[in-house]
Amino acid sequence: MIKLNDIQTAREQIADVINKTPILSSATLSSICGNQMLFKGEHFQKTGSFKIRGATNKVKHAVQEGATFITAASSGNHGQAVSYIANKLRTPATIVVPEDANRSKLGAIHAYNGEIEKCGTTSAERLPRAEELARENNGMVIPPYDDPYIIAGQGTVGLEILDQVHDVDLVVVPVGGGGLISGILTAIKEINPSVKVIGVEPESANDTYLSLEKGKITSIPGTRTMADGLRTSQPGDVTFPIVQKYVDDLVLVSEDEILQAQVFVLERMKQLIEPSSAVTVAAAMFDKLGARDKRIVCVLSGGNVDVGNLGEVLSMFGE
Ligand SMILES: *Cc1c(COP(=O)(O)O)cnc(C)c1O
Repeated sequence: MIKLNDIQTAREQIADVINKTPILSSATLSSICGNQMLFKGEHFQKTGSFKIRGATNKVKHAVQEGATFITAASSGNHGQAVSYIANKLRTPATIVVPEDANRSKLGAIHAYNGEIEKCGTTSAERLPRAEELARENNGMVIPPYDDPYIIAGQGTVGLEILDQVHDVDLVVVPVGGGGLISGILTAIKEINPSVKVIGVEPESANDTYLSLEKGKITSIPGTRTMADGLRTSQPGDVTFPIVQKYVDDLVLVSEDEILQAQVFVLERMKQLIEPSSAVTVAAAMFDKLGARDKRIVCVLSGGNVDVGNLGEVLSMFGE
């Protein structure tokens, strides 16, 4: 398992690339919830999500180890982050994406000079292709979450929260493969175990919830939640033991709750966040945290919405 020290080292490694993101607040949500509600704004992060933290830590390590080529199998925030940091380090990168990847995501990868290769529609097809490319080109595949360097990079969000918010009681974190929450858990629980950390998943992507309940990694069939960053079918071999050891609770939110939270954040806080981010706000709004009179930080993990989702949000705006 990674240690606090790995996260502190990661913070130094990535300092020249990432933004130290702001803490926002909402008086309206605070009075609705009966808690002081604060938000860690990773939608202000480079490439629009926290994924650049882990990607930078891992890609720098790969280059230091002699890799001269970088690849990843993801059309989403991870693919954008890997493309961005490889370009910054002047290392060629190819991002393997599904045949049906949407154009705005491909545009972002392209803008950071990443090559795009289309392959199949499932990650089971894309990952072997990325591995093949890595072998052919003296390169390295950058995994999205199940890796100590990725987890340490994501854990820097936890260090920043402890620096920025004194006397925080509870931190609320979205859970996909578990890289973000396992990094934050390690940082927070090794510095101040009295701070609680609660994970949030969509009801239809409850793989970590079920795994915790059964006490072992449990997979679910493919899911279509609007929170596309949380559509994993099972937690990772590296991330899950960390979640199991430290997490205080894991709660679920519905698709309707996620959308309502996104609309609330846009209307009242004037911020555009993506559905994967909105799950933490939904958990607070719909009283899933079991907290009163606490100082709570919800992690807003990213702001990359696609046109379809933006249309849905706008259709509910002002209702
Ligand atoms: C990837 C992602 C998540 C989930 O992170 P994991 O490390 O896979 O748990 C949450 N929100 C956004 C915006 C993401 O891109």
